[in-house]
Amino acid sequence: MYDVVIVGGGPAGLTAAIYAVRANKKVLVLEATACGGQIVNTSKIENYPAAPGITGLDFGQTLQKQAEDLGVEIEFESVEKIIDNDMSKLVITEDDQYKARSVIIACGTEPRRLGLENEDKYTGSGISYCATCDGSFYRNKVVAVNGGGNSALHEALYLSEIAEKVFLIHRRNEFRGSADLVEKIKKKDNVELILNANIVGLNGDKKLKSITISHDNKTEELALDGLFVSIGRIPKAKGLIDGLKLTEGDYVKADESCTTNIPGVFVAGDVRSKEIRQLVTATSDGAIAAEAALRYIDA
Ligand SMILES: Cc1cc2nc3c(=O)[nH]c(=O)nc-3n(C[C@H](O)[C@H](O)[C@H](O)COP(=O)(O)OP(=O)(O)OC[C@H]3O[C@@H](n4cnc5c(N)ncnc54)[C@H](O)[C@@H]3O)c2cc1C
Repeated sequence: MYDVVIVGGGPAGLTAAIYAVRANKKVLVLEATACGGQIVNTSKIENYPAAPGITGLDFGQTLQKQAEDLGVEIEFESVEKIIDNDMSKLVITEDDQYKARSVIIACGTEPRRLGLENEDKYTGSGISYCATCDGSFYRNKVVAVNGGGNSALHEALYLSEIAEKVFLIHRRNEFRGSADLVEKIKKKDNVELILNANIVGLNGDKKLKSITISHDNKTEELALDGLFVSIGRIPKAKGLIDGLKLTEGDYVKADESCTTNIPGVFVAGDVRSKEIRQLVTATSDGAIAAEAALRYIDA
């Protein structure tokens, strides 16, 4: 039996693991894909204290090594269900099952999709959800970014250095993102804003060739090579464990103590209901959730 099983090997999950293993607990991290979480998609981190300019990949790999060197076990399996048997929890993956005295849910979020016909077909063939991952495939090409928050503005700025032309399509006539980013975007000669517009169609053959946008009560077809969708993220805890209280937007309900409504189940990182979703708040949650789990185990 593990003392702590952690769902997700992102910054929150791995930090929780480091805190728990340093308290001499038997700790397992279950990670569905690769350690590091969302941040591995970032070329440069500028706001994490004492690590200016580190790449997202280096950040994730360093964190993974730190956890493993301290004795954390990591298995690359996706958690499908957690069964609450009061004093113990059964964590079921696609391959195996693990018994734990406590569980920390740190499974983060995933990109929100457009929900349009052909979206699956063109994902990876013209549609991307990460400019820093896929931007280089569109050197000197025509791309569009869809969204109006900071992420969309960052993606458009990043792509403006690579692509020949960037359309920034937003459903409102003002951006939600910060004013300084909007100013930077407006100064870019190769970025064209298309406001009050919705994407209603994805067209092409094997690859995406154009999108249909609806604005000012008419539709228009826009030829392009790539579309970067940046319209928010969806928390991934829904359905993991019966009875877990979620917010309306499906974030796990917990205050700053990272304690959920189910005894022995804790939450950390972006998947928790909170104001700011960043690396510092994810790692901070990891430490707090681990300490809460330790208190629960040792009570
Ligand atoms: C493009 C981009 C750039 C960013 N840049 C910055 C930045 O510069 N500075 C900053 O502070 N923040 C930045 N962020 C935000 C930061 O990455 C997140 O706040 C942080 O990664 C959250 O960490 P987390 O561990 O909570 O979740 P995540 O990073 O999402 O990690 C969750 C992990 O859980 C795994 N997982 C999910 N479901 C399961 C399951 N069922 N079973 C097993 N494993 C599962 C996932 O594969 C993932 O590895 C950026 C985010 C993005 C998308």
